[in-house]
Amino acid sequence: MSQRAENIVEDLRLFLRQQEEAGVERWHLDEGIVAAARQTLAGAQPSSRTQSQVESTEEETSKAGVLARLDREEVSICTRCKLHSDRNRTVFGVGNPNANIVFVGEAPGRDEDLQGEPFVGMAGQLLTKILAAIGFAREDVYICNVLKCRPPQNRDPQPDEVAQCEPYLLRQLEILQPKVICALGRVAAQTLLQTRDSLTRMRGRVHDYHGVPMMVTYHPAALLRNPNWKRPTWEDVQKLRALHDELAGEA
Ligand code: SF4
Repeated sequence: MSQRAENIVEDLRLFLRQQEEAGVERWHLDEGIVAAARQTLAGAQPSSRTQSQVESTEEETSKAGVLARLDREEVSICTRCKLHSDRNRTVFGVGNPNANIVFVGEAPGRDEDLQGEPFVGMAGQLLTKILAAIGFAREDVYICNVLKCRPPQNRDPQPDEVAQCEPYLLRQLEILQPKVICALGRVAAQTLLQTRDSLTRMRGRVHDYHGVPMMVTYHPAALLRNPNWKRPTWEDVQKLRALHDELAGEA
């Protein structure tokens, strides 16, 4: 019985006891009062699916909900590799769970580790500008990294760390089902494509990452160090946008 129905029954019990104590043995209930009571009790009946049940079902089935559960129940408490010991926060991913395009960097840096969000700080601001240049708001896309914890001194991810953490990325992509991926930087691209090819060789081509088309461009942090790479990055993201539009049926 719902709380509201229990309250009504308790009020009725109290009323009857007071009537009994007052010596009333019989009483007449007006039809209108009976009808109103019935209506109130009917309204107090719990529906077959309560609001919290509806919300929990949505959490179980929506992309955002499934991603949140993966983060909460697995990634945020993960100790699979040695990087867990020095992290402040895991950095799962951010953005639109229904995005057609996912940007993947190599690993969180200092700001990301502190805030728990990928691509914040100056490199993140530059990424936001690059996205805007091809007509995307940050909220239109999904952004994450291969590794979910920060390597010490921002060193490159090590093979055992990638082996332990990449399955989380694969599960994110399985949930997101993007039309296209963009690897940000040499390390992310080499890690995902399992190659030692230079960034120059990997750029300008469409690769395959577990069945999803993937393109490669410079990491925004590299552009901050070397502004000469802004022009080739601009060319890359123009091609990326065209591929996205073609695959998402927006061409
Ligand atoms: S980097 Fe990945 S595998 Fe390693 S502890 Fe963090 S979440 Fe787990």
